[in-house]
Amino acid sequence: MYGDALVAGVEGGVLFVLDRDLRIHMATGESLTSLGLAPASIERKLAADVLPSWEVIAASCKGALKSETATFSFRRDDVPYSVHVAPLVDQGETIGVLVSARTLIEEERLTSVIDARDAAARDSERLLATAFDHAPVGMSIVDLEGRWLRLNDAYAWMLGYDREELLTIDPSLVTHPDDLQEDTTWAARAAAGEVDSLERDRRCIARDGSIVWVHARSELLRDDHEQPTCVVSMLQDITKRREADEAVRTSERYLRSILDTTPEPLFVQDLSYRYQMVNVAFEERVGLPRAQILGRRDDELLPDEAVAVNRHSFDLVLKTGDVVKRDDVVRVDGHARDYSTVKFPLRDADGVIYAVCGTFNDITDRKRDEAVLRDRIVWTDLIHNAIAQDRLILHAQPILNLATGEIDQAELLVRMRGTHGAPRLMPPGEFIPQAERFGLIGAIDRWVLGEALKVAKDHCVEVNLSGATISDCAQVDEIERMVRESGAPPEHIIFEITESAVAENMDHARDFATRLRALGCAFALDDFGVGYGAFTYLRNLPVDFLKIDIAFVRDLVDNEGDRQVVHAMVSVARDFGIKTIAEGVEDQATLELLGLMGVDHAQGYWIARPGPIDDLWPSTSPARTPR
Ligand code: C2E
Ligand code: MG
Ligand code: MG
Repeated sequence: MYGDALVAGVEGGVLFVLDRDLRIHMATGESLTSLGLAPASIERKLAADVLPSWEVIAASCKGALKSETATFSFRRDDVPYSVHVAPLVDQGETIGVLVSARTLIEEERLTSVIDARDAAARDSERLLATAFDHAPVGMSIVDLEGRWLRLNDAYAWMLGYDREELLTIDPSLVTHPDDLQEDTTWAARAAAGEVDSLERDRRCIARDGSIVWVHARSELLRDDHEQPTCVVSMLQDITKRREADEAVRTSERYLRSILDTTPEPLFVQDLSYRYQMVNVAFEERVGLPRAQILGRRDDELLPDEAVAVNRHSFDLVLKTGDVVKRDDVVRVDGHARDYSTVKFPLRDADGVIYAVCGTFNDITDRKRDEAVLRDRIVWTDLIHNAIAQDRLILHAQPILNLATGEIDQAELLVRMRGTHGAPRLMPPGEFIPQAERFGLIGAIDRWVLGEALKVAKDHCVEVNLSGATISDCAQVDEIERMVRESGAPPEHIIFEITESAVAENMDHARDFATRLRALGCAFALDDFGVGYGAFTYLRNLPVDFLKIDIAFVRDLVDNEGDRQVVHAMVSVARDFGIKTIAEGVEDQATLELLGLMGVDHAQGYWIARPGPIDDLWPSTSPARTPR
C-alpha cells in the first residue's frame, strides 16, 4: 500500500511523511515545486506551518496517529485534489503519518498510464497467444505432469486431429512408444535442473495410426523463483523430408548393390589418383578390402606397369574431357593379359572435372576365343573351298619292300593347292591340325579316301585317317560303304592311324580296325614309338603294319639306343606277326642297316620324296587328281 502511495507521489503528486509531532520528516514528489515547496526548506518543520490547505488534512493526520485511514478530495484554487492519509506503522506501533496527494488531473493521467501499461501487456499477451495459435509449426504447452495446457491448430492438424479433440487425449498416447522413454528421461533431468531444452527427431502417432516424423524442440519454462512450471514444445513435420532422405538412402543402397553385383571392376579416382569409390569386383581384383583401398593412390596398390597404363588413359580423360576407351596389354605375374578399359570424367555443377570413373575388363580369354572363332571361320572357309574347288591333291610316297627290293605300296599324302594357280602346295602339317581342331577333318579324310580308292584299284596304298574320323560311327559306316562300293580290292587298302590317335581313341581304334579288317583291308600303326605304352597297343589292336617313327630311324646308324629300340620293335612285331615299315630313311647306310635288322619295308626321301601319283604309277585314268 505504501508502495502504491510512494509511486503515486513520485509519479504525479506529493508524498509527505510526518512524525508523531506532525513535523515533516520527508517530502517527495513531482508536484512539490508546483506547490511552491522545496524539500530541504520544509523538513523538520511543523506540517501546520508549511503544508498548504493544512486545515483540510489536519483532522485526518491526527486520525492517522490513531490508526485511522482517510481518503478524500477537495478543491484548491479550483484544482481538484485527491488525498490519502494513512498511519505509518513499525512493529505494530504508529510512528508517523503518510500523506499523499495528487491533483485529480494527475490521477486521471496516472490511471491512463496504468491503463495503457495494462493494455500493452494485454496486447502483448494477445499477440503471443495469436502467434502461438496461428504458428505454422505445431506448438504445445504441457505441465510438469505431462498434461496439455495449450495446443495450437498446426499441432493438432499435423496429427489429423481437431484441437479440441486432441486436448482430450493424453499427450503420451500420440508419442511413438519407442520415443516416449527419451521424453520421460529428459523431463526427469529437466525437473532436476540438469537440462532446459531438448531437440531431436521423433515420431508421433497420427489419428489414423500412421507415423508422423517431427523435429521437436522442447523448452522447460521456470517462474521468477526458478521453479519449473511447464514445457513448451515446437514441432515441425519432417515426414516428407525423412521420406526424401529415405528415398535417397534407398537409391544409394540400390546403387551400391548394382555396383557390387556388377562383374566388372568399377572405381572412381580423384585428381590425385586416390581411389574414392570401388566395387566388390575391384576389391577382388586388387585382393584387398575396400577399407584398405579407399584414399590410397593407384601406385600404392597396383604393379608399376598397371599404374602406367591406368594413368595414361586417366590423363587422356582429363585432357580430352571425354570418354576414353582403350585396349591395353599388361603383364600380370609374368603373363601378358589383355585389358579393355572405359573411363569418363565426373564433373561438378560448374562442369569442372573432379574425378574419373573407370571400369576395366580382362579380355584375354575373350580375345583368345575371338581368335579361335576367326580361325574357325577362316579355316572352314579355306578347307571347304579347297574341296569344292578341287584344290586338294594327293601325293604318293613309295614304300620299298626290303625283302624283294620292289616298291609294292605307297603312302598317299594330301596337299592343298593355293588359289589362282599359286605354285606353292600347302603341306598337310599346316592344315590337317586345323581341320582336326575345327571338326573339318572328316571331309578331308572322305575326299582322300575317295581318291585313294581310285588308285587302289590297281595299286596297294596306305591312307592316313585322323583319330576323329575313326571315332565317329557315321564316318566309319561311310568309309565301309565307300570301300565296298569302290570296286577296289580291299587288300590294296592299308589304313594308317597314328599311335597318338589310337591312344586317345583306343576302343574306337579297335572297332575300326576290326571292322575294316573284316572287309579285307589292313591296319597300320603310324609314327610308332613316339607315344607311351606303344607295345600295349600291339596286344590290344589287330595291327598289320607297324610304322617305325622317323625319330628312331634318322640317327639309326650312329645311335646305339635307337638301334636297340628298333631292334626291340622288330622282334616284338615279328612275335605278333606284324610287318614293320621304317619311316624317314634318308641315306643308303640307314636303308642297309634296316635291312640287316630285319625291318620289312622302308620309306623315306632316300627312296623317293612324296610326289604326284602319276609320277609313281603312270595312269590313263582321267579321274586321277590333276597335278
Ligand atoms: P605321316 O603319315 O607320318 O607321313 C609321313 C610324313 O613324313 C610325310 O609328311 C612325309 O612327307 C614325311 N617324310 C617321308 N619321308 C621322309 C624323310 O625321309 N625325311 C623326312 N624328314 N620326312 C619324310 P607330310 O606329307 O608332310 O605329312 C605329314 C603328316 O600329315 C602325315 O604324317 C600324316 O600324319 C598327315 N597326313 C598327310 N596326309 C594325310 C591325309 O590324307 N589324311 C590325314 N588324316 N592325315 C594326313
Ligand atoms: Mg602316315
Ligand atoms: Mg608317320
